[in-house]
Amino acid sequence: MRRLFLFFLLLIFSGPVLAQQYDLVLQGGRVMDPETNLDAVRNVGIKGGTIAAISAQPLHGRRVIDASGLVVAPGFIDLHQHAQDLASQRLKAFDGVTSALELEIGVPDVAQFLKAKQGHSLINYGTSASQVAARSLAFGTPLPAGSILPTIGPATNDAATPEQMAAMEKRLNQQLDEGALAIGMGLGYTPGATRLEVIDLFRLAASRRVPVYTHVRSSGHLEPGSAIESVEEVIGAAAISGAPLHIVHINSTCALDALDCLSLVAGARARGLDVTTEAYPYIAGMTTINSAIFSPGWQQRLGISYHDIMIPSTGERLTKARFDELHASSKPLFVVIFGNSQEVLDKLIPNPLIMIASDGLEGHPRDAGTYSRILAEYVRAKGTVTLMDALRKMSLMPAEMLQRSTPAARRKGRVQPGADADIVVFDPKTITDRATYAHPMVPSTGVHYLIVGGTVLIDQGKMLPGVFPGHALLGPGPWSAYEH
Ligand SMILES: [Zn+2]
Repeated sequence: MRRLFLFFLLLIFSGPVLAQQYDLVLQGGRVMDPETNLDAVRNVGIKGGTIAAISAQPLHGRRVIDASGLVVAPGFIDLHQHAQDLASQRLKAFDGVTSALELEIGVPDVAQFLKAKQGHSLINYGTSASQVAARSLAFGTPLPAGSILPTIGPATNDAATPEQMAAMEKRLNQQLDEGALAIGMGLGYTPGATRLEVIDLFRLAASRRVPVYTHVRSSGHLEPGSAIESVEEVIGAAAISGAPLHIVHINSTCALDALDCLSLVAGARARGLDVTTEAYPYIAGMTTINSAIFSPGWQQRLGISYHDIMIPSTGERLTKARFDELHASSKPLFVVIFGNSQEVLDKLIPNPLIMIASDGLEGHPRDAGTYSRILAEYVRAKGTVTLMDALRKMSLMPAEMLQRSTPAARRKGRVQPGADADIVVFDPKTITDRATYAHPMVPSTGVHYLIVGGTVLIDQGKMLPGVFPGHALLGPGPWSAYEH
C-alpha cells in the first residue's frame, strides 16, 4: 500500500517534469554550485533564459548538449574589466566569463556606455560612476572620449574647492541615477583628493546605498604613504560612512605587503565592516606611464626601478633616459610593472577572502587568461585551491558583492533552479590560459560551451558569429536615495 502511494506520488510529481520541453538541456555534466555545494552528475534544463530544472532524471530539450566529462558551473563574473570592446569580450568569453564589469574606476558617461552596449555585447556588462571622471569634469578638464584616466594636472593633483566638490557630487548622483552599480574611486590617480573629500564621497555612496570600489591612494612600503596606510584610509572611510567597500587588485597595490593588507581586511570584517577584496594571478601589474603613480619618488614608493618596467608590445625594459622621455610625453602609454613575487601571490590566491578579478586591459595577459590560469595553475598544477573554491572565488563571491546594489545579481553566480542561465561548460583536465606578456591576446582553451542568459555563445569550443546575448547589470537607480 505504502509502496503504491509512493508510486502515485512519483507519477504526480515526475510526470510534468518529464513531459516538459526545455529550450536547451546540458546533459550528464558534473554540475557544481558553490552556494549549495552541489557537485554531482546532473542534467540542466534551460527555458526562457533561466535555469528551470536540475535533475538526475533525463530532461527533454529542443537542443541537448552532451556535457559528460565536463564541469557545468556558473559563468565567471569579473568585477574589474577595463577593456570593454568586442576583442576583449571575446577573450573573456573563452576564459569562461559571462559578466565583465568596469567597477574599479568606471566609465566617464554611464548613459552613453549603456546605450552603446545594448544589443551589441557578447557578455553581460555594467559600470560604476567614476570619481576620477567626475573630478576631471568639475575641474573643467573633462576626460577625452574613450579614456578613463586623466593625465597629471590640477584635476589629479589639487584639492577640490567647495564648488568643485559640489559639482563632483552632482555628477556622481546623475551617474548613479543612470544605472551605475557603485562609485569607482581611482585614488591612486587623484592624489590631490583630500581625506575629507574621500570620506564625503563614501558618504554619498552610503546615502545612495551603493558600494565603493577603489584603487587606494598609494602603494609600497615607505611611510607615510604606504599601501598599509592607504588601505587603512579606505577602511576608515567605510567605517565612518557605512558604505560597503571593495578594494581592487590587492596583489598589485600592496605587492610584497599584500598579506599584511589582507590582514587589515580580515580585521575590519571581524569587526563587522562590509569590506571585500580581489586579486589576479600575475606578478606584474599594468598602468599608464604618465599617470600620477609615476610622480617623483616612485622608485622608493613602489620598491622598483626602471628595469622593472616593460613596454608590452616590444618587451623593452626601460632605462632612466627612456622613462623620462615616455613619462614626459602626453601620450598615455600602458606599461607592465613587475612588482610582486610568485611566493606572495601563491599565498594570496588560496585565501578565502580573495575573489578573482582580472583588471583586464589589452596588452596584459590577465585580460585573456585570468580565470583559466586559476583553474590550470592553482587547482590543477599546484593543488592549493579546490575546484569548488575556485568557482566560488570566480562566480558566487562576486555575485554576492554585486547584490549590495543590484538584486538581479541574486540570480547570478549560481547553478540553481531560478538562476539566470549564465553557464560555463569546461574541461577541468585541459582548461589552460595561453596569453603571455609577449602575446597577450591569445584566448584560453578548454571552455567547450558558454551560455549567456540561455543563449549559446561558445559552441563546441567555437564562438558563434552574430550573437550578442549580453545584458546590462544596473544599480538601484534614482529611487535608491529614498529607499529604506
Ligand atoms: Zn587599478
